[in-house]
Amino acid sequence: MASRFGLAEDIMSVTEPRIVFLRRDGEMVPLPEGMGLVLPTRLGPFVRTRLFTWPQKLRAGLDVFLPRYLDQEDMSIGRFLRHRLGSAVIERLADPLIGGIYGTSIEELSVDAVLPMLRDYEDESRSLVLASLLSGRKAPKGGGSPFRTLRGGLGDLIDALLTHLRAHQGFEERLGCAAVSLTTDHEGASRLRLASGEVITADVAVLATPAPVTATLIEGERPAAAVALRAIPHASTAVVSMGYRAEAFPEPPVGHGFLDASTGESGRSPSSGCTITSHKWAGRAPDGTVLIRSFLPERSRALVSRPDNEVFAAVERDIAETCGATEEPILRRIARWDNLMPKYTVGHKDRLATIEAALADRPRWHLAGASYRGVGLPDCITSGQAAAAATLAQRGDTASATDTG
Ligand SMILES: Cc1cc2nc3c(=O)[nH]c(=O)nc-3n(C[C@H](O)[C@H](O)[C@H](O)COP(=O)(O)OP(=O)(O)OC[C@H]3O[C@@H](n4cnc5c(N)ncnc54)[C@H](O)[C@@H]3O)c2cc1C
Repeated sequence: MASRFGLAEDIMSVTEPRIVFLRRDGEMVPLPEGMGLVLPTRLGPFVRTRLFTWPQKLRAGLDVFLPRYLDQEDMSIGRFLRHRLGSAVIERLADPLIGGIYGTSIEELSVDAVLPMLRDYEDESRSLVLASLLSGRKAPKGGGSPFRTLRGGLGDLIDALLTHLRAHQGFEERLGCAAVSLTTDHEGASRLRLASGEVITADVAVLATPAPVTATLIEGERPAAAVALRAIPHASTAVVSMGYRAEAFPEPPVGHGFLDASTGESGRSPSSGCTITSHKWAGRAPDGTVLIRSFLPERSRALVSRPDNEVFAAVERDIAETCGATEEPILRRIARWDNLMPKYTVGHKDRLATIEAALADRPRWHLAGASYRGVGLPDCITSGQAAAAATLAQRGDTASATDTG
């Protein structure tokens, strides 16, 4: 998509070497090389890692002999992986890695909605470890990191998209204005009411708002769909960015960052992990400075609700303890993402089916965005493209009209 909008030259990859640590009760252990999202794709680094004791590695190896565990029913990733690989793999690897992405624990996330490949692995090979090692052998060598960004920041993609759209005759936009309801009139056209009082009439509508907002928009006309949309929980997370002088670190921080794999609530860090942004991406901070982003997950909600200075103080303490910062930061920023991160909990796919059934008689309303079939940006773009394709296919000659009321 970035290439399509003329940004091919600006796409950049993470810096090498890609070293990520797991922080466990104060100790930093490198993430073993060749780890897929939760499973090893190479045996050697997994056998040699200090992350697990020998009994824990042997327990994970038991997976090779266990019979299939999943039946037709969905299950939490935590329960499934604990059965197959043992508790240590959950606590030290799977929860920090997957829970870190969703801002919540894998004990509530769904195998079928979040990691359907685990079911495929079990179906095809019975053993997850063997299936993952096999996929590692088939993968092209030296594929590099899948992570990409844009040199000027991801906002450039939105700017380029808007420039592209604004060049089209008939394109109109309303920014900074909330939608409050979506209904259909007696001729079957959709009527979107805005907080300003304006009503936009359209032959097709794409609802790319988070599921709880979409529920509010359509509940007057489709209450059953609204109930199912509200049943998709959304986590609150926050990102705190701290900039330091390089001299603040007697020992320069190493690697791209770390994920927190500590257990037990007491004395636990407020952060699920930190990215050393100035190491991970070239050009993200001026020379002679270090930029660190700390992720505060759902379990730190109470802290995140406190005033900024209290949140900053907690994160500063954490960075001082973990990375050895001896000075105060020279830059502090916080971004709160309230009720925004969808949690695909057990039964998520059933909820999607309920929503689809409840909207079956509204074929010109399309849902898109992170609440449904993938939270990653590529998934969101795919869902937007699918909605756009369906819209174009459905649109006749009826142009959308605007009236104020
Ligand atoms: C901290 C954090 C880090 C992340 N890191 C990554 C990453 O590294 N890689 C990755 O792939 N993904 C990442 N994600 C996930 C990804 O960014 C999101 O899943 C994705 O941006 C969601 O896109 P969306 O369009 O569905 O929702 P949003 O971007 O939330 O868009 C929803 C839009 O709806 C608008 N809206 C809300 N209410 C109304 C209303 N009443 N009327 C009109 N408009 C309304 C909002 O203003 C917003 O513009 C991250 C997410 C978070 C929170």
